Amino acid sequence: MLGPPGAGKGTQAKKIATRLGIPQLSTGDMLREAVASRSTSGLRAKHVMDRGELVPDDVVVSVVTDRIDHSDTAKGFVLDGFPRTVPQAEALDQELATRGIKLDAVLELEVDEDALLDRIRGRAEEAANNGERTRSDDNPEVFKTRLDVYRAQSAPVKSIDVVTEELAAALAKSSPHQVRSNS
Ligand code: AMP
Repeated sequence: MLGPPGAGKGTQAKKIATRLGIPQLSTGDMLREAVASRSTSGLRAKHVMDRGELVPDDVVVSVVTDRIDHSDTAKGFVLDGFPRTVPQAEALDQELATRGIKLDAVLELEVDEDALLDRIRGRAEEAANNGERTRSDDNPEVFKTRLDVYRAQSAPVKSIDVVTEELAAALAKSSPHQVRSNS
């Protein structure tokens, strides 16, 4: 499940995972747990997360691959917020290949940027109203950084080939005789 911060990846990934009866693997949740447990990797991640930047690829890749190796993923899993960089996507391809796992689908949420900022404000207010601790990175300043990071490092994860296939599919729908399939 890919998409900009505040798009609702976590909410939707949870719902989809529940429907499919498989776990949702959120790297954001895993990292927040690591921070809360004050583990060495958690303490390293905290500063980066508070600034709205990305935790180093090797840290995230090992966190997520360790999680994939738990037995509850045998029937599948929904990755939420991972991969977020091209090297992470490449590492994921390799790790899945060595385990003989095939990626079934890539879902990308697209949300208007003004709506994203409203959501982030809403999320912080809702957490405060429910007496929950607000996320330290859910504030307008850090959100700007998170959005910039998404544009620069995460948006390119969608490979050129995938985009080409989508464009061809969209064209084929509107003018079926003009697009030749590449197979
Ligand atoms: P999220 O809950 O998905 O919005 O993630 C919260 C924060 O955790 C992000 O702003 C990053 O600092 C960190 N994070 C989560 N997933 C990743 C990832 N795949 N790569 C690097 N950093 C991540």
